[in-house]
Amino acid sequence: MPERTLLMIPGPIELDAEVLAALARPQLGHMDPAVAQAFGRVLGRAREVFLAPGAQPFVVAGSGTLAMELAVANLVDPGERAVVVNTGYFSDRMATILERLGAKVESVGARAGEVPALDEVARAVDGAKLLTITHVDTSTGVRAPVEAVAKAARAAGALVVVDGVCSVGGEELRQEAWDVDVVLTASQKALGAPPGLAVVMVGARAMAAWRAKQHRVPSLYLDFGEWLPVMEAYERGAPVYFATPAVNLLLALDASLGQLVAEGMDARFARHARVARAFRAAWRAMGLTMLPAREEVAAHTLSAVYYPEGVDAGLVGRVRAEGVAIAGGLHPALKAKYFRVGHMGGTRAGEVLAVVGAVERALAASGWRGASVGEGVAAAARELGGGHTRT
Ligand code: PMP
Repeated sequence: MPERTLLMIPGPIELDAEVLAALARPQLGHMDPAVAQAFGRVLGRAREVFLAPGAQPFVVAGSGTLAMELAVANLVDPGERAVVVNTGYFSDRMATILERLGAKVESVGARAGEVPALDEVARAVDGAKLLTITHVDTSTGVRAPVEAVAKAARAAGALVVVDGVCSVGGEELRQEAWDVDVVLTASQKALGAPPGLAVVMVGARAMAAWRAKQHRVPSLYLDFGEWLPVMEAYERGAPVYFATPAVNLLLALDASLGQLVAEGMDARFARHARVARAFRAAWRAMGLTMLPAREEVAAHTLSAVYYPEGVDAGLVGRVRAEGVAIAGGLHPALKAKYFRVGHMGGTRAGEVLAVVGAVERALAASGWRGASVGEGVAAAARELGGGHTRT
């Protein structure tokens, strides 16, 4: 039997059996009534997951980077000002995308592990067409305060675009209640499907801004004008063609979004928070330091943890030898100094204990003697609750 590795990188993630079964169906055509129904359901369920009942979803074949481009290419014209709230690697990418579109970009940054100060963001956004913010920066494990930043941007009349690739379906994000104009994500993270679908949820104000755009969207594949009739048609159950949809991925996403909606978004947010607390309790008990500077900015969807003294990136391979795939660092300045563990989607107590145990054993195999094997697992188990203490 081939060896089975538990996939705990920050996306793609472990897939549920029902999602895998959807992928394995005999190939269907994109105009097949069953595909039309599934695509229509995906769009409706996406509104529930984003907590955006009145918004227009776009689901397009491509990765999260395509979702980023779709979101801003339809809103910004050359010469317009855009503010990027910058918490790391993926905020830098958004700045690059905006620059390519001819926007005048101002990045408001912070040191790695922190979030930019709200008053600096408020100052920068004055007079800007839009503001972008990465909800969870996957390079640092930092969660930005989307609700407060959106409020400041809205007060200045700027559109708000949230990169939720590492948050939607895991972190609390209430698009309509928080008055966020666009939220984007991809299928392979907390949505629990394979990589390959970009999902963009566009509120009414952003749709109006797209209609009022002065310049044509520079790429045909990125143009909402091409995709809107397709989304509307599939939602009516009467497919029309623009570019072949990723049929099998849509079937898989339909299955995974069905599970998200069945769990309920509040329960899902709470489970991700509980799992993240258990991981943090383990890292603390093991004497490890996290990259996010404070508990309040530490994401619930992944952990970014510094290697302890004397341990290097070889740890990732040693953890893999224990049967668990984790990731190395990504932030350019700190890359070699930390590892990342994804804990989104279906992660539950069993996986938490397996991952922490694997990291403890791998640290011991690296010659590190800062904690005894088992201390991290015990701390995580205590945080997860449901057990008892010996009397
Ligand atoms: N934004 C964030 C926050 C991400 O984590 C990622 C992927 N890790 C992306 C954007 C880009 O997504 P993709 O790799 O699917 O293009």
